[in-house]
Amino acid sequence: MTTPTASNGSTAPARRLLIVGPPGAGKGTQAVRVAEELSIPAISTGDIFRANVSGQTELGVLAKSYMDKGEYVPDSVTNDMVRSRLAEADAQDGFLLDGYPRTLDQVEALDGMLAELGTPLDLVLLLVVEQEEVVQRLVARGAEQGRSDDTEETIRRRLEVYAEQTAPLIDVYEQRGLVRRVDGMASIDEVTAALREALGAR
Ligand code: AMP
Repeated sequence: MTTPTASNGSTAPARRLLIVGPPGAGKGTQAVRVAEELSIPAISTGDIFRANVSGQTELGVLAKSYMDKGEYVPDSVTNDMVRSRLAEADAQDGFLLDGYPRTLDQVEALDGMLAELGTPLDLVLLLVVEQEEVVQRLVARGAEQGRSDDTEETIRRRLEVYAEQTAPLIDVYEQRGLVRRVDGMASIDEVTAALREALGAR
């Protein structure tokens, strides 16, 4: 791939990235692919919570009580978790955050973390998908993977919470000129190709 560059006027490659979009947009699948190409870690807050649920840690027990209802884990808990993850060695040269930030409070917290590190965000990749498609994908995923929050009732709630609390963040990043929109309705390979192009486009 061509070396992607940051949108902040710097010629340094874009390596501090977010991927956003509603549940079922394909963020996780695409984040892993893009991060691998850029040799940066894909950091999924949902995956970290699920690992804690499986490990029956204190954090996992707390997170599960929210996740199973389709609600967000409290900001303070989530922010602390991301702060320590971003402090790890593998994230020092870049990262692709998947599923974070999801609230305005989290945007502010992330701004603070990156200001401390002296490393501003380069780009926000937005996967655009139709609501009906997303519901169908999540119902199918629930049947295949047995994810406890992929039941129809929880899916509906997760989409509501996304619309209420997370969709407004797009405007915030839009105002900063960081958002690159990609059609998430195409095939997995086509979406990856479009993301690659979005990263390269100045
Ligand atoms: P995901 O795998 O990204 O769809 O996340 C699954 C669930 O984990 C969400 O429905 C939330 O309950 C929780 N979660 C993941 N990321 C966050 C976040 N940034 N803030 C709050 N809760 C989160």
